[in-house]
Amino acid sequence: MRKKLIAANWKMYKTPAETRDFFRDFLPLIQNHDRNNNDEIVVCPTYLCLDAAIAAAKDSDVSIGAQNLYWEKQGAFTGEVSAAMLVAVGATHVIIGHSERRQYFGETDDTVNLKLKSALEAGLTPIVCVGEVLEEREAGLTDDVLRRQCLRAFHKVSAKKAASLVVAYEPVWAIGTGKTATPQIAADAHAIIRAEAAESFGQEFADKLRILYGGSVKPENAHSLMSEEGIDGALVGGASLDPKSFAAIVKY
Ligand code: PEP
Repeated sequence: MRKKLIAANWKMYKTPAETRDFFRDFLPLIQNHDRNNNDEIVVCPTYLCLDAAIAAAKDSDVSIGAQNLYWEKQGAFTGEVSAAMLVAVGATHVIIGHSERRQYFGETDDTVNLKLKSALEAGLTPIVCVGEVLEEREAGLTDDVLRRQCLRAFHKVSAKKAASLVVAYEPVWAIGTGKTATPQIAADAHAIIRAEAAESFGQEFADKLRILYGGSVKPENAHSLMSEEGIDGALVGGASLDPKSFAAIVKY
């Protein structure tokens, strides 16, 4: 049985004060809910708000993650943050290869691979994002794209080292667009990712691998998505910014 993980990606939203306000309102809303298999909850604010989020979530079951990292340990890399630095402030998770980073910041399958290795080395739980753009889906290339992104992300990573790996299937056409993949579309994509993970790491690893769905997850569709056999949780953007709506998703 894979434990579900519900992660919030706050993107470039919220100040430290707004982060504290969010947790003040959010934590009471999820306090007594039936945790339905003890799902894991992770919130990923900007680097600047990690400290505020970690302090605010201290006595709760909510973990805090970053949205990115750089693969070198330290050095002359202006504006970057290493895995060890994230661990030092108390972050436990990190999103890697989000489509917005691929689209706007030159992230490639190779940099995803480097980031994955450094996150694992530092003991962070990586959430590696993969997903096809609309043109690729329409051209029937979804399978190829997902396989390539996974294969390259996992290059020279051992199953032993990758034990904490989480993958998020995020069809780019569904991110921030209000268009959600149907549970069937998501489940089919998850099966492709799991098959690729089996080739890279073995069947036993693939059976345990958590694969999240991301792309316009909302309180209204969370239940049907999360009820699908191969969907092990959600990566939530827009709907995670509001405490009530994220709490409703967590309670799906
Ligand atoms: C995301 O940013 O990972 C995401 C899925 O965004 P949204 O939920 O807003 O589509």
